[in-house]
Amino acid sequence: MIVKQIWTANSYRNFNYLIACPETGDALAVDPLDHEKCLKAAKDEGWQIKQILNTHEHRDHTGGNEQMVARTGARILAHKNAKDRIPGMDRGLGAGDVIKVGKTVELEVLDTPGHTMSHVCALSRTDQPALFSGDTLFNAGAGNCHNGGHPAELYKTFSEQLDRLPESTQIYPGHDYIENNLRFTLDREPDNKAAKDMLGRLSGQDPSHAYVSTLAIERQVNTFFRLTSPSVVAALRKVFPDLPEKPDPQAVFLKLRELRNKW
Ligand SMILES: [Zn+2]
Repeated sequence: MIVKQIWTANSYRNFNYLIACPETGDALAVDPLDHEKCLKAAKDEGWQIKQILNTHEHRDHTGGNEQMVARTGARILAHKNAKDRIPGMDRGLGAGDVIKVGKTVELEVLDTPGHTMSHVCALSRTDQPALFSGDTLFNAGAGNCHNGGHPAELYKTFSEQLDRLPESTQIYPGHDYIENNLRFTLDREPDNKAAKDMLGRLSGQDPSHAYVSTLAIERQVNTFFRLTSPSVVAALRKVFPDLPEKPDPQAVFLKLRELRNKW
């Protein structure tokens, strides 16, 4: 599997992706909002885009579909419940479905509600597992729930699915928010050395050569995976005095999500 991360340089800071089979040159475009950049990248590599995967229905993920289909004839794949909101959808996806790209690439579909209720992530189960996480999991952060989502569902997705993936899973999110997210982590946990070092290293990084984290690294720097950290809980209790001294992880997650909205 070859992955090409494409930085759109737009104000929403979207990342688009091409996932290609090295044998056939067939490619899948993930959320190809900037269809021009995606098409150019495919052309430069000699790849043919045959499929589009929309992680969810928001316009900054689906806005390139029409042009991409017009230029390549690619089929559109997305969560089966998004079919009324994504025009021209060809294949509705559910948990456990497999997306094949060329001869060598297989991606497993995860049904990951929370950011919206029809959001999928794609997991490649190769020697080097990789997760295309859309707006569910960001580097050092979690998706918001403002436009059709539910924080309790997002927690469930984190705890029952993402938290159980292999530690070495590479994380390919839908947006570049890493700097801001690390600042949020450090605002909760000023003693988080891994987050501090990473912010120092990545401040002002060129997102066209973005850092790629793993689940193991997310556990160190992503507050939404650090629900039992004594520093996280202590800092939250200053803002939410009703939070018990030993709160359950879901309560911590929901308070973090609430705080992140205002931060
Ligand atoms: Zn979104």
